Amino acid sequence: MFPEERESLAAMTSEPSAGTRGPRWRALLEAHWQARVREVTELSLAYHVAAAAASDGTGDGADQPETRVLLGRTVAARRKLADVEDALGRLAAGRFGSCEQCGSAIPAGLLASAPETRYCSRCDAEPVLVPAVAGHLSR
Ligand SMILES: [Zn+2]
Repeated sequence: MFPEERESLAAMTSEPSAGTRGPRWRALLEAHWQARVREVTELSLAYHVAAAAASDGTGDGADQPETRVLLGRTVAARRKLADVEDALGRLAAGRFGSCEQCGSAIPAGLLASAPETRYCSRCDAEPVLVPAVAGHLSR
């Protein structure tokens, strides 16, 4: 065993971990979930208002640049909401806080700021090149 390995192992086992199933993660994720739901709701409303105003009875308002920007933001917010929901699912399944690629623990500090994080920083830095294939195989 290399010294670095021993060191990281010691860091792992001695880390005062609150665990990744604790109620504080659920509370944090639910707070994020509520914020995302609010964001999606507000953006959807703004999108529909903008589309209705822009269409002005003459055509489809969805073609207006402003409307398209709102649609893009709505889609992005929905995706983030889905990420938080996935994280809640992982929490329920007992897999929360583990990297989906290598299974190692995701640092608590990272989870605290972004609880929907799926990968450890190492795997995140090396994106999976064939996610579609991996998803297909796991089905
Ligand atoms: Zn990883």
